[in-house]
Amino acid sequence: MLRIALPNKGRLAEKALDLFETAGLKAEFSSSRALMAQLGPDFEAIFVRAADIPEFVADGAADLGVTGADLVAEGGRDVDELLDLGFGRCRLAVAVPEDSPVRHPADIAPGSRVATSFPGVTRSFFDHMDVDISIAPVSGATEIAPHLGVADVIVDLVSTGSTLRVNRLREVATIMESTARVVANRDSMADAAKAPALRELVAALESVLRARSKRYLMANVPRKRLAEVREVLPGINGPTIVEVHDAGEWVAAHAVVDANRVYQTISHLKALGAEGILVTRIERLMP
Ligand code: AMP
Repeated sequence: MLRIALPNKGRLAEKALDLFETAGLKAEFSSSRALMAQLGPDFEAIFVRAADIPEFVADGAADLGVTGADLVAEGGRDVDELLDLGFGRCRLAVAVPEDSPVRHPADIAPGSRVATSFPGVTRSFFDHMDVDISIAPVSGATEIAPHLGVADVIVDLVSTGSTLRVNRLREVATIMESTARVVANRDSMADAAKAPALRELVAALESVLRARSKRYLMANVPRKRLAEVREVLPGINGPTIVEVHDAGEWVAAHAVVDANRVYQTISHLKALGAEGILVTRIERLMP
């Protein structure tokens, strides 16, 4: 049985579970407050804090895990990063009070206090910039620290920037961009008994992500316009053309199209005389 560490709560938890479920691995809990669940026949999930996942994976307590790239960087442990899941997008940013004269991290006065729950990444960022700071470690609500006189600067995760604005803080640099990642234990990936199942799992997750940005489109089109239809529906290897049982004037064209181009594709097809247009979601897509 291979063990997968998933976030037990917070921003990544629900999306991670949903992704596994769509990939055919629905978590089966034995009780409503269980910290473990069965994930299909080959895997068991353990539910832990996202911040602890790099540690558990590096130690081999879990073979594979889902957590933020920011937490992987902060954990500083050697894990095998296998897949960018695209959700949980944010950036680790340096911010100062709105009225501060600081415009760039190099302007930060030597000896300034920086409040953060990312002391490791923050320390190496300022060391690289050759700015001498001290760190005020906090475990949350970092943006309040400057108002309490605890810090001059903060380093915190930002997605829209609205929390910073509400707290009258201004971003002066991005230390790193982050999204949720699949990370694996290096020994597990080198183990011939474990690696194939872990790779299959990653391929399944990847097929779900790929499918989310695509739609399957079907339309009846006049046979005489097929050449033009091919240009509108590139598909993966060109559209699939199926006979329609009428007098032969119509064929059905099927193709996988980019979700964000469905509107344009439909209007192009209509302009070519298409009828009975259907668009459906795709569950998984393996190229
Ligand atoms: P949480 O468990 O909710 O504290 O957050 C876990 C992870 O969610 C973070 O380490 C980031 O990878 C990600 N995340 C995405 N957007 C944000 C955000 N605006 N603030 C905090 N975390 C975020």
